[in-house]
Amino acid sequence: MLNSFSVPEGICISCSRKLNAVKSLSHETARPGDVTICNYCGAIMLFGPKMELRPADENIIRTLEKTALWAEVAALQRKRDTLL
Ligand SMILES: [Zn+2]
Repeated sequence: MLNSFSVPEGICISCSRKLNAVKSLSHETARPGDVTICNYCGAIMLFGPKMELRPADENIIRTLEKTALWAEVAALQRKRDTLL
């Protein structure tokens, strides 16, 4: 079960929607340096030092591709690509 937490409002780098909450695999809220995925479009981002949203680099994306979450991310990205 994923836990929901509020985070400072940010804008998705891909779809420009406002994001102000995360669902976490842990029992803690997001911190700077954590990876986050836009719930609307599947963009893979990173929280910066001030919790601003930044693009994730290729190493992070390649690591994420090997996790159980990847199928969900890929489904969100396919949905986004269909809408564009
Ligand atoms: Zn997005």
